[in-house]
Amino acid sequence: MVSSQAVELLRNELPLEQETLLLSGSITTGLVLVDIVNGFCTVGSGNLAPQAPDRQISEMVDESAKLAREFCDRNWPIYALLDSHHPDIPEPPYPPHCIAGTDESELVPSLQWLENEPNVTLRRKDCIDGFLGSLEKDGSNVFVDWVKTNEIKVILVVGICTDICVLDFVCSTLSARNRGLISPLEEVIVYSRGCATFDLPINIARDIKGSLAHPQDVMHHVGLYMAKGRGAKVVSEVSFRN
Ligand SMILES: [Zn+2]
Repeated sequence: MVSSQAVELLRNELPLEQETLLLSGSITTGLVLVDIVNGFCTVGSGNLAPQAPDRQISEMVDESAKLAREFCDRNWPIYALLDSHHPDIPEPPYPPHCIAGTDESELVPSLQWLENEPNVTLRRKDCIDGFLGSLEKDGSNVFVDWVKTNEIKVILVVGICTDICVLDFVCSTLSARNRGLISPLEEVIVYSRGCATFDLPINIARDIKGSLAHPQDVMHHVGLYMAKGRGAKVVSEVSFRN
């Protein structure tokens, strides 16, 4: 079965209703950028980067950059996770990627300006789940503190990969919210066009020992569907009321 037929089947069997989101500023909303770094997004930038221009990933980067600009213009809080690994500590099952100190672990060129914005908190992490990756040795959590300090009620999540780092972060955050660990956060919203995942079709995966097939459109849909199943809202459009 080719990927497009599989997506068609999925859309029938796992229909995903998406909403639209209008942000007015009346409810404090924070933007979370998950791993929009060269090592996952920029062509040729290491083992886990796309090998050729990728439509889904390019759209994710463009949409995230647009949102980041809107949030900065309004001085609304942004939390940016950056995958960053010590060269001697592997992250199975993945090959080496986003090694600290290399370009792979830096924000993509269209987001690099965020490093100098006062409303942006950057957090380097060396695990899939950015919620766990925000834990400090003393048990405090930089993400939880960011939510509390800014009195954030809603987070809007974008980034890569829809079904991996984005999903794990969303699930952990929802569990933390349900346990009352992250007040005053009420709602987690995933913007579908601001998310992307990588493509490893079955015909290629078959020839790579130990690899799992990962057809992009299928896994993107599954990631969004699972996020919604855990209690996130999924939106296909975000607009701002001035
Ligand atoms: Zn990693």
